[in-house]
Amino acid sequence: MTHDMKNPVGHNRESRLFYQSRSRRPLIDRAEGVYMWDVDGKRYIDASSGAMVSNIGHSDPRVIAAMNAQLEKASFAYRLHFENDAAENLAWRLAERAPGDLERVFFVSGGSEAVESCIKLARQYALAKGEPQRTKVISRFPSYHGSTLGALALTGYTPMHAPFAPMMVDQPKIPAPTCYLDRDDLSDHDRGIKYANMLEAEIIKQGPETVLGFIMEPVGGAATGALVAPDSYYGRIREICDQYGILLIYDEVMTGAGRTGKYFACEHWGITPDILAVSKGLAAGYAPLGAMIAPDRIVGPVLDHGGFIHGYTYAGNPLACAAGNAVLNVIDEDGLLENAATSGAALKAELSRLSDEFDMIGDVRGKGLLLAVELVKDRTSMEPIDPKHMAAAHLVDIAYDKGLIIYWRRTRGGYRGDHVMVCPPMTIKPEQFDDILVPLRAALAELKDELQT
Ligand code: PLP
Repeated sequence: MTHDMKNPVGHNRESRLFYQSRSRRPLIDRAEGVYMWDVDGKRYIDASSGAMVSNIGHSDPRVIAAMNAQLEKASFAYRLHFENDAAENLAWRLAERAPGDLERVFFVSGGSEAVESCIKLARQYALAKGEPQRTKVISRFPSYHGSTLGALALTGYTPMHAPFAPMMVDQPKIPAPTCYLDRDDLSDHDRGIKYANMLEAEIIKQGPETVLGFIMEPVGGAATGALVAPDSYYGRIREICDQYGILLIYDEVMTGAGRTGKYFACEHWGITPDILAVSKGLAAGYAPLGAMIAPDRIVGPVLDHGGFIHGYTYAGNPLACAAGNAVLNVIDEDGLLENAATSGAALKAELSRLSDEFDMIGDVRGKGLLLAVELVKDRTSMEPIDPKHMAAAHLVDIAYDKGLIIYWRRTRGGYRGDHVMVCPPMTIKPEQFDDILVPLRAALAELKDELQT
């Protein structure tokens, strides 16, 4: 087979790549700040930061320069042969930012790997403590924790599980705190406690001595559409985990690295989890990078009992870590945490105003720039739209044609309802909001017409 290198595989020829389906998208040409252009010159606004990844925007020259400098020094140094400054520095900086005693950092290349690492560290810690019977990790339904078999077992999304039994050991699930759907008379505080207490009930049902950990996204990602629990939920969950000696694992793959307006979302509630996973925004799409952060009280016993039996070839990759350091510099230099908080609040208010025009907007929620719009039949009943319409996926497609990228969430059953994520880079400014809101309003109007016909 011959390859025309001047004309890389485009739409004029069949692709040799495959992902999840046969559908294809235009070829990307370039990206800058919050905008992206395809090879036909069409401009898109990246209002989902890819998959909530490109937190500092595209093609920042400071990150490119730092990565070039690292490439010229050493592109790869295997961890069994050399330590590298980029990884060491980034580990120190993350440890400084992480709350409480979270001070030891284990680098990986993505979110699923970070979650796998958390489970395996937790398991080895239990073994080191002489508690081999602790094997179960409770998670929430719905939730998303990754695609590898271990992380998938924690993921609360039934259709993703079905093809992989019995290779994957299913794990117990409790309901995510979807309080906005509740029609009882409870106060916000009491609702938070009610949902947190479901963890205690599940621990008792499973047998406390068999439970290793509980994993949760502090603000939900694509599975729940930026679900935020009442404040009381977070403290009560911490209390329950402490009471039963269960490790609290925060999956901050999406929320971490600033997206919610704090570097780690757990800071909003003053919670220190026992283990934390971070990825997406860590190197913000400039390189594949993720990390597990854990305290020495957990890492130490594991290292002293035969070592951590886990690792990846690209762990602590100098190029990825150089990108991570440069991204952190940009976040600090440009005040992007503050911008995520203020622009996020302003964008959320604008999205809420859209609900005045569209009764099918059931809820607008989220924190910082992790925002979602939920679509329903009508706001009074909050009934979901018939899944046959694939409303959220369809809205994403209509918006895409208009040059607006919002996050894909396909309804195939298994979750309740439809929602789309609106999560532009943390560099977004209010004067750019119309580039999101004008096509979004037009896309919603088109969807509404189609659903009515
Ligand atoms: N955990 C959460 C909360 C996520 O949102 C994701 C990805 O969307 C993952 C884990 C898996 O990350 P990755 O796709 O990088 O493996």
